[in-house]
Amino acid sequence: MLTQNLGYPRIGGQRQLKRACESYWAGKIDLKELNQVAQKIKQENWQTQLDAGIDLIPCNDFSFYDQVLDMSLMLGVIPKRYAPVLSDVKGNCEIDLYFAMARGYQKDGLDITAMEMTKWLDTNYHYIVPEFTAKQEFRLFSEKVFAEYNAAKQLLGEKAKPVLVGPVSYLLMGKEKEEGFERIDLVKQLVPVYVEIINRLKQQGATWIQLDEPTLALDLSKKEKEAFDFAYRAIVNRVSGVKLLVATYFESLLDNTHLAIGLPVAGLHIDLVRAPEQLDEVLALFPTNLTLSLGVVDGRNVWKNDYEKSLALVNKAAGKLGNNRVIIAPSCSLLHSPLDLDGETAIDPEIKNWMAFAKQKLNEVAELKQIVEGNNKLLAINKAAIESRRNSTKVHKQEVKHRVAAITEEYATRKSVFHVRQKLHRERFNLPSFPTTTIGSFPQTEDIRALRAKFKKGDLTLEQYEQAIEKATIDVIRWQEETGLDVLVHGEFERNDMVEYFGEQLDGFLFTRNGWVQSYGSRCVKPPVIFGDVSRPADMTLRWITFAAKQTNKPMKGMLTGPVTILQWSFVRDDQPRDVTTNQIALAIRDEVVALEKAGIGIIQIDEAAIREGLPLRKAKHPHYLNWAVKAFRVTAGGVQDKTQIHTHMCYSEFNNIIENIAAMDADVITIETSRSQMELLHAFAHFEYPNEIGPGVYDIHSPRVPTTAEMVSLLTKAADLLPAQNLWVNPDCGLKTRKWPETKAAIENMVAAAREAREKI
Ligand code: GLN
Ligand code: ZN
Repeated sequence: MLTQNLGYPRIGGQRQLKRACESYWAGKIDLKELNQVAQKIKQENWQTQLDAGIDLIPCNDFSFYDQVLDMSLMLGVIPKRYAPVLSDVKGNCEIDLYFAMARGYQKDGLDITAMEMTKWLDTNYHYIVPEFTAKQEFRLFSEKVFAEYNAAKQLLGEKAKPVLVGPVSYLLMGKEKEEGFERIDLVKQLVPVYVEIINRLKQQGATWIQLDEPTLALDLSKKEKEAFDFAYRAIVNRVSGVKLLVATYFESLLDNTHLAIGLPVAGLHIDLVRAPEQLDEVLALFPTNLTLSLGVVDGRNVWKNDYEKSLALVNKAAGKLGNNRVIIAPSCSLLHSPLDLDGETAIDPEIKNWMAFAKQKLNEVAELKQIVEGNNKLLAINKAAIESRRNSTKVHKQEVKHRVAAITEEYATRKSVFHVRQKLHRERFNLPSFPTTTIGSFPQTEDIRALRAKFKKGDLTLEQYEQAIEKATIDVIRWQEETGLDVLVHGEFERNDMVEYFGEQLDGFLFTRNGWVQSYGSRCVKPPVIFGDVSRPADMTLRWITFAAKQTNKPMKGMLTGPVTILQWSFVRDDQPRDVTTNQIALAIRDEVVALEKAGIGIIQIDEAAIREGLPLRKAKHPHYLNWAVKAFRVTAGGVQDKTQIHTHMCYSEFNNIIENIAAMDADVITIETSRSQMELLHAFAHFEYPNEIGPGVYDIHSPRVPTTAEMVSLLTKAADLLPAQNLWVNPDCGLKTRKWPETKAAIENMVAAAREAREKI
């Protein structure tokens, strides 16, 4: 029986790669230094995996920015607009072209936009979307994979296994940039380059090559299925003497099972953490010449593996196929896990004993194999840890479980229907038509960040810190009043992050010191860990919201993060379903909503930025998810009086297939990101005749550009063509915390002017 790993975190234990890349971009270090940092990370990663006893160790899983972008460069899929980066400008090399594609290129008199970025399936990792044209040509361009395999081979010998994104997933994850063709039809032109790459790797000595094909676990059209069949047959016809392993993950093969096991390759990897139920069918159909890689160690979470559970799967497979046709592996690349638990000295030792990061997961894979070979001591130690978690009072709080169990439909429903509430709100707040507001945060300046850092370090007392935050809050309120905004916010200066801020105040959450996970490029996130039943020991936002409300006669909107968003952006429990955890968080947020209402706050926004990204990968699973996600939101809002106005906010959402569910949330006002789509996203609302109030973002907050009043009036005019004007609000696309003050002030002033014009004209 072999063990393997599919990919390893590449940012470095101290985020060295982040710092090195950023220094290179800033011109502070040269390519040689950048390469040295990369080399060191790779060597360390390989050594760690070798020491752990892994038999097949990935290489080319390292990337300076993103592994899909690496593929684009390898395959010569380089949009034309980047040509000047290499040709006209002296001194640029391949990596500069690569970073230009990732980040755009604004120097030497050039101004070239970056390629689009989007989420890697249902993870929080973002990849650079390949751009295809009708006459797309493919050719071997970058030699990175060969160099990396060579380096890996020096250390790892036969164990070095190059990793590529497979041809079909590579096409499917991309986008057509012209009309008149389907990218999947490019597979014929693409295959020869894969053949060339695989043959060269084989000549270099590769024995196994991993081809990631996560789309094989998604809903596929007939044509896409045929493309899989075609691509692998065409490749295998023209390569020999090397074993190809197709890796699927994040979902079950389901209706693609026949297709997957029928591919003429040597190995197939399946995710048995997300979809353990697929094993039976896969085994029942499994051909005799294929090796099965079992993804039993969760690559997406921070919890210790339950060996007993994993062994049941391993033994079942080995019983059917024989030990030598089974590989033990993590469920997916460990890219999505933090690197090393050992350094986390501040975590409660009892809870730490339930956890595993990437490095520990490698050991788990190796230990599972040792147990299969008869080391029962390892099993006993693991069992003790799993038992201790299962029975811990740190995890289980009966009163929380009872409250969740008692949630009813009525509990999750506002007292009266929307138009009754709307009438009360109009009387109570007496807002003009096209009321103006913002999404919550205002610029988090260096000064604000420095305050928090100093306070955390102990250089500021709580009193000094709070005084400074109060001053920033008062200033932003005065400015909002002067500018003429109708519904004010307090600015969120006291918050580090919209999830962490709440997690820190809720029971059941813990925070790591160094649990960074790559989000995109050099950007990493450090998600909170939900380890136990969630409850709210004290008020969370009252101090700041009520302070802010006292500073003004205008309505002050209270600002909260919704339960699905808190769930999505945390590491979650694997010992209970996600909806149960979400309901626990929802109850805590509900209590906060009620407390705010009691304190006189009349408008409360519950952000659900991440509700769409929580959608399962398979369409058949959407309704179940949407049901519980929407209901959890309704639980947060269901405790207030009719006179209280509940807002929600969502980022970059495509609402077409979920508009009914968005409407079912029954928020009095929803603010959404729409400006970059020129209000196109509103069509879904219009078509559905969305009844509640809506604030389509009138300007893009992702760029420092100040939009003109005329532009925003024109967007509002479009919006009013689609939806009843009396239901429209005027606001930016999202929070302003990443912006600077000068552009923020100018943009909001123009926005208020646009609302005034709209009131007269529309
Ligand atoms: N209230 C949050 C803010 O303004 C919302 C951020 C978001 O939607 N991502 O920052
Ligand atoms: Zn947003």
